[in-house]
Amino acid sequence: MLIKLFTGRDAEQRRHWVNRLNWVLNQELDGLRIARPRALIERPYPGYVMELMDGLESLQASLDSSRVALQNGTGLSGYLATGGLRRRLALLRELATTLAGLHARGLAYGDLSPANVFVSKSIEHCQVWLIDCDNLCATERLGHGHLYTPDYGAPEVVRGERGVNSLTDAWSFAVLAFEMLTHGHPLKGEAVLDAEPEEEAHALRGELPWVHHPDDTSNQACEGLPLELVATPRLQALFEDCFNAGRDNPLARPSLAAWADALEAAWALMLDCTAADCRSSFYWNEARQCPFCDHVAADGLLLAHAWYSDASPEEPHLDTGDRLALALERPVELHLAPVGMHGYSEAPLVCEVRLDKAGLHLAPKGEGELTLVRIEDGKTFPITQPQTLPAKVDRRRGAAAGLLLAHPAEPRLRPFWRFTW
Ligand SMILES: [Zn+2]
Repeated sequence: MLIKLFTGRDAEQRRHWVNRLNWVLNQELDGLRIARPRALIERPYPGYVMELMDGLESLQASLDSSRVALQNGTGLSGYLATGGLRRRLALLRELATTLAGLHARGLAYGDLSPANVFVSKSIEHCQVWLIDCDNLCATERLGHGHLYTPDYGAPEVVRGERGVNSLTDAWSFAVLAFEMLTHGHPLKGEAVLDAEPEEEAHALRGELPWVHHPDDTSNQACEGLPLELVATPRLQALFEDCFNAGRDNPLARPSLAAWADALEAAWALMLDCTAADCRSSFYWNEARQCPFCDHVAADGLLLAHAWYSDASPEEPHLDTGDRLALALERPVELHLAPVGMHGYSEAPLVCEVRLDKAGLHLAPKGEGELTLVRIEDGKTFPITQPQTLPAKVDRRRGAAAGLLLAHPAEPRLRPFWRFTW
């Protein structure tokens, strides 16, 4: 349980705050992970009680413990203890999905920062909740002292020119994502960290290039993890759009829905390092080499290519560009949707695939219909019972095959997953 009180002395501001709280209470927030007021408090200060699930902590606490470890010279131990790259992508995807849902309802959050985001304490779970729903607003919120959290406010808000809205949410989210992934700040590079303290204020007002500006290296990154290690090219492009063109032009910032999609796609590419003392997760690469320790992950992994077809499997398939990495012994669910789209895991489940040394295990789930397609001759084999494709036989042939997914709930959707041993 959390309690939020308004302790300001200004009667006018207090009236505004209580009015906004009453307005929030009337908003349709069902299905969004936002802790809502359960009880109102009138005296001695106006406020409300929020109910939060057990086992959550603020994202700030999680980030701090990870960053402290990095600064104390214990390297990535803190990064790993808070779930590594795989969990960071999942948490950010959940947060982006909640914010995208708010924006779709014409609402903005307003003061996004790690202090207002609560996440599961246990790294086995990826719950994400926003607290302080009194921050919510419908259209641009002006006045009230331009409430924002230093470091996360959009430049136009920091300069006091504009109030908060969905485009300033987009900025704050990108800062938070960059910080979670790299442990650096997108505007604090060499020109800030090696300079007088007032340079930081210039940077946060949007007067310096961002730390990965493609041409201007005057403020280049000098702390944290390299971006290309923790972000896919698609995520890197979103950061570039937000912090370069989007620094001065809020409309150039990628939407939260675009972030949710790119994070879903990135998450699907995660592999786990199999070195006993590493435990990192990393993006699929052809060599399957962990960039954190250079160990090559255990053999027997394969990359499934997402194709799409609403016609027969013999027809040419359209490559969506989405990929899914299959790590040894880590079952993956295949749903009736392209993987690089948020909401993928809510789409109807068709089957579970699991890879081990013996081969690829396929298990149809629920009402899902699964067909194995041999690419060389287009032959199809319906799979109605759990089956194993032995790795040894097929690998020798370098055979290519695919899985055609179908489900009676959405007869027109027919995702196709191609794989090569
Ligand atoms: Zn490793």
